[in-house]
Amino acid sequence: MNHDTICALATANGVGALGIIRVSGNKAFEIVNRCFEGKNLSKAESHTVHYGFIKDGDEQIDEVMVSVFKAPRTFTTENSVEISFHGSPHIAKKILEVLIKNGARMAKAGEFTMRAFMNGRIDLSQAEAIADVIASENEASRKVALNQLKGGISNEISELRGDLLNFTSLVELELDFAEEDVEFADRTAMKMLLDSLETKLSALIDSFQYGNAIKNGVDVAIIGKPNAGKSTLLNALLKEERAIVSDIAGTTRDTIEEILHIKGTAFRFIDTAGIRETTDEIEAIGVQKAKEKIATAKILLYLYDEFDSRPQEVIDFVKEFYREDLKIILLHNKIDINGSLENEFDQQLAETLVPVYTTTLLPISAKDQTGIEALKTELIHYVENLKQDESNVIITNQRHYEALQKSLESVTRVKSAISQSFHTELLAYELRYALEHLGEISGEFTNDEVLGNIFSKFCIGK
Ligand code: GDP
Repeated sequence: MNHDTICALATANGVGALGIIRVSGNKAFEIVNRCFEGKNLSKAESHTVHYGFIKDGDEQIDEVMVSVFKAPRTFTTENSVEISFHGSPHIAKKILEVLIKNGARMAKAGEFTMRAFMNGRIDLSQAEAIADVIASENEASRKVALNQLKGGISNEISELRGDLLNFTSLVELELDFAEEDVEFADRTAMKMLLDSLETKLSALIDSFQYGNAIKNGVDVAIIGKPNAGKSTLLNALLKEERAIVSDIAGTTRDTIEEILHIKGTAFRFIDTAGIRETTDEIEAIGVQKAKEKIATAKILLYLYDEFDSRPQEVIDFVKEFYREDLKIILLHNKIDINGSLENEFDQQLAETLVPVYTTTLLPISAKDQTGIEALKTELIHYVENLKQDESNVIITNQRHYEALQKSLESVTRVKSAISQSFHTELLAYELRYALEHLGEISGEFTNDEVLGNIFSKFCIGK
């Protein structure tokens, strides 16, 4: 346990109307009292606010409001003080200096939240949720992060663990009576529990696809021959002239990324140089990049027009790049000229591709912005289809996802240990293993490296 009293700027580093400095630790009141001209904070009621001045010796630094939070009803569970001052970076620096001079030390990244976790006020998944709430950039990610902060995942996992723990204790009791060959843990009931655990764990694991999409956004690659209208489409989607549109084939040399939030989900559009064999060295770099972008994209928008493409080319392209986890949307562009879905070109595509490769075909005019709304609806459908109905809790964190996968594997192993009547000792071992992985999510089983990794990504003051 760390007994230092720590301090840090909790608000953004820069000029603002107000700034807040946080102090937490056994000596928080004592230290602030030494540089506060106002009420004796040790004698103040918890959760009260006091007017006064922060001073360095006799020199007043700023007129402030000081909030007092007494242990254990505080974020860190320690005595805490929040100093609201006039938001000048210079004043912030002066106040921190005077606090340090009086016995506090600068907090490390995430140290306040780390203390909240270490002191048992929140579990690890809730600590991670704090970072997610702060980082949330849209409605969907804010909602899941807040649910996690309120203990959504913690509750689900602790229920699963609780059931498993009861059986594990009974199996371990059997080990104590090994000579007597007794079975305290009813194997049939245990198998039923493991079946339901498998179902619940799988639902949580499956929710990660959706969770990841709303937390980290969805990569959408825009592909097509030079002049197919990729930059125009990107502009139409963003309704701003960001990408350079030109008539000379191959002008989008590098990739351009733009983020568009549609119904609370971030879509990252990646415009690429046209995919085609080329001898131009610079363009070749672009082509290579396009291939890399398709490899990591979840959605691929393939643009073509009937003047510059043949159906077989589009079919060959789809066949080459098709992956089960890639949604391909074929965009027949420039329909303002004379195209429509009622043409032979698209009929051929529809017959060959749509049934086998689950592609979608949409007629658009990037230039006139026809079909853009239909395209956006299609993108939203993609995300909504990832949603699982079985579980209300959505996994958004890679670490949780991996721990859940390991838990599921070990639950499956416990099941096969039972069905093959393995020795109780082995059964107990597998059960412990499953419990440990479930405990990793809440931080019941963890190590310094994992903690260091999580909290070092927080900012100072959090
Ligand atoms: P990129 O090379 O694929 O990025 O293609 P651009 O977006 O630069 O477009 C190439 C040319 O096609 C430009 O002159 C655009 O104005 C034109 N263009 C793009 N989309 C449309 C469309 O829907 N209809 C028509 N008529 N022209 C388009």
